[in-house]
Amino acid sequence: MQQNDDIPVYRLGATCDLSDVSEGKIYQGKVQGFANFGMFVQLNDRIKGLVHKSNMKSEHKEKDPVLVRVRGIRPNGNIDLEEMTIQVYQVQNIERKSTIVRISDLSGRIGKTVAIEGEVAQIKQTSGPTIFTIIDESGTQNVAAFVEAGVRAYPEIELNDIVRVIGEVMVRNNQLQIEADMITALTGDDAVVVEVRIEEALNARAEPADIPLLIKSDAMERLRPEMKKIARIIRKAVFVSQPIILRHHADADGICSAVAIEQAVVALIRESGADFDAENYLFKRAPSKAPFYEIEDITRDLDFSLKDHIRFGQKMPLILLTDNGSTEEDEPSYKIASVYDIPFVVIDHHHPDATIDKYLVAHVNPYHVGGDFGITAGMLGTEVARLINPKVEPAIRHIPAIAGVGDRSEAPERQRYLELVKDQYPEAVCKDIALALDYEQFWLRFNDGREIIKDILNITGNTDRHKKLVALLVDGANSMIDDQMSACMPHVVYRELPSGAKVFLIDVEIHAHKFTFPPPGKTSGEVHDRLCKSNEGSPVVTIGIGPDFAVLRSRGVLMNIPRMVRELRVEIPGGGISGGGHLVVGSIKFVEGMRSVVLEALIKKIGEAQVQK
Ligand code: MN
Repeated sequence: MQQNDDIPVYRLGATCDLSDVSEGKIYQGKVQGFANFGMFVQLNDRIKGLVHKSNMKSEHKEKDPVLVRVRGIRPNGNIDLEEMTIQVYQVQNIERKSTIVRISDLSGRIGKTVAIEGEVAQIKQTSGPTIFTIIDESGTQNVAAFVEAGVRAYPEIELNDIVRVIGEVMVRNNQLQIEADMITALTGDDAVVVEVRIEEALNARAEPADIPLLIKSDAMERLRPEMKKIARIIRKAVFVSQPIILRHHADADGICSAVAIEQAVVALIRESGADFDAENYLFKRAPSKAPFYEIEDITRDLDFSLKDHIRFGQKMPLILLTDNGSTEEDEPSYKIASVYDIPFVVIDHHHPDATIDKYLVAHVNPYHVGGDFGITAGMLGTEVARLINPKVEPAIRHIPAIAGVGDRSEAPERQRYLELVKDQYPEAVCKDIALALDYEQFWLRFNDGREIIKDILNITGNTDRHKKLVALLVDGANSMIDDQMSACMPHVVYRELPSGAKVFLIDVEIHAHKFTFPPPGKTSGEVHDRLCKSNEGSPVVTIGIGPDFAVLRSRGVLMNIPRMVRELRVEIPGGGISGGGHLVVGSIKFVEGMRSVVLEALIKKIGEAQVQK
């Protein structure tokens, strides 16, 4: 005869499901609640049964421990229990050995209970459940945990914790979701093992594809290691659900560089799981108002990021600057960002100031390898985009040609990129698209216009609409440019310098329409183009003058605008001078009261620059 202390009582582990429950056996349970006909008893977080009142032996309240015997399991999964009163027994644990499933393998496990291990990349409280975004070495997965509507589940679990999740794989709105039965934070060695495993695998996954450049270019070849580094950093940010903010110069080249990368990143976010909306909150593109990353920009970016961090449990962002970011004008913003340890990467072709590199994790710039601004940000951005996600290449391979034409590149790379797409995008078409971008950005002000810009660049694939839109925008832009030119060309003032350079001055403040298209910089550029044509063969400098700024364009005069600005700042105390740009195309700012002093000193310096005959 069996001794009492031999009677086995089973305790179901958290991962056990119905198949681990056997008729006739006795289990430890917990009273979950009561009904007229009996009480519900939980065997673990997932499995419960009913003790009919005829099978109850004593009074209980919720959460009381209770022993129950399984009388039967019905075909629908309902379990009939009866309460047992045994004084002496032996507890045996039933543990389902939960092998950890990789996130990328979850789609084959719908309806099953699984365990995953990973890092908490985001914690978002909805009006229903709490959504934990978990990343492991293979992907990203949302886990829903519910205690009560709108109440934070597992408050002890924090962002960046390494956790084990046990739950059922479901499909919600066509997306995989795990409904959590249990989330536990791993600690000590357990956490380290998982962390190292994820880190190593992510680094391998983040490694960009080894693909050749679209064109042959020695300088760009020398930039490849740094381009790969940026691609690796961006890929990893996507895989760990770190938001990416892409800031760029608001001209055609800047837009081109940023949009190429946007296509690569958005597609990668979609591929790597997460939810539908991830591409909207994990990636943001925004043009910068100034031709640098100014304090207004970092202040906005920081403000939004910190709020998202607090409200939606998002990580702090990675910030990528294109066609901007490499000069000392950006330094005040970098200083602010460094207080929050925000990492920056830069793709630029402006003449870089060495003092900036200490703020940057990576910096692609042709000047680092003996190249110059003729290799434009749009060319570099497109090559980096291909490294981030080679699949987007067909949609973006024409972008470098548009960027090169838009930024008036004279480098051999411009011709090679044009050659690549000459059938569909001959030079005149590229020029139209670049103008359409500049014009549309004027109306967009500082919005990104994501979808409209895609149509202008013919990325959406609706070529008919693209053509109509570009034609319309080019018409609009040209008629406004013509208006502006007929107003200002008669007021151009000419000065011949001893060096042989011809300097043309146009006061864009009083002899051009203000607050309209083309803005002062582009107005000066248009004036310059006309003067270059009518002064074929001569070195030409055009200065567009505003009340407290001047915009410079030149042909055939070997100036170094950033250096001239630095020198003038020292030579004219009280001039309030700042500025920069490219070597031969740029701008200078000063205080209005010192305008004529600064301009005369500037023209003198232009006269000292060598001219090309
Ligand atoms: Mn540019």
